[in-house]
Amino acid sequence: MSLVVENAESGYDRAPILSGVSLRVEPGELVAVVGSNGAGKTTLVRTVVGQLALRAGDLADDDGSFARLSPHRRAKRGVVMVPEGRKLFPRLTVGENIALGRRAAGRRAGGEDPVDALLDAFPIVRERWGQQANLLSGGEQQMVALTRAVAARPRYLLLDEPSLGLSPLKTLDVFRLIELIRERTGAGILLVEQMADQALAAADRAYVLEHGRIVMEGDAAKLRSSDEVRRAYLGVS
Ligand code: ATP
Repeated sequence: MSLVVENAESGYDRAPILSGVSLRVEPGELVAVVGSNGAGKTTLVRTVVGQLALRAGDLADDDGSFARLSPHRRAKRGVVMVPEGRKLFPRLTVGENIALGRRAAGRRAGGEDPVDALLDAFPIVRERWGQQANLLSGGEQQMVALTRAVAARPRYLLLDEPSLGLSPLKTLDVFRLIELIRERTGAGILLVEQMADQALAAADRAYVLEHGRIVMEGDAAKLRSSDEVRRAYLGVS
């Protein structure tokens, strides 16, 4: 059982971006994909959820290949993304945004609702329940976007740069929330981040993406302490 990306190729119009990308995420695992600006991280996430067409290779989860399914069907199966820039419905309230997440849950709903645990741990989301989403701060919006994704009962959760534009303090909160989501949902999480240091500190395993190819992979702590990664991605000379 795992989310598997096998030899994936995708891109925009005539420009190929990803080539031969293979990775996997097991249930309950937190896997980071790090790489510099333009390496193809967003392209990877959008390809897995079906916003971009897979040109070669395969995508599969516990039920087999989903490479030919629509983005909607993939979400129904439990492959859920939190996009870069959060993408909440700006004029809907926090509660309405989260309710929309629930609609993707389908048959996976039932049992203990993991959203309750998140709201208890981060009461700010509950306090903002009736407010219009676009009136929230960036950090609060990211919390809501993560909560909405959890409402969809993901089996695999793909997070595209959740720390983007946030202060170091808010980034810390977002990483704590991601930890809690892993603990409460048992979902496999693929975390795509430019903040390599934090992402590698949080992750079990990691992949380094460069120019649309995986150039390194392994235990996240080992990668974090490797000279090559430190020089290239952690700003250490
Ligand atoms: P960032 O951290 O800056 O978001 P990234 O690693 O997520 O970087 P991508 O956004 O996946 O990188 O972009 C990979 C490449 O694809 C870049 O060269 C980018 O210019 C190109 N690209 C991204 N979006 C489009 C698009 N809509 N049309 C054409 N090319 C695009």
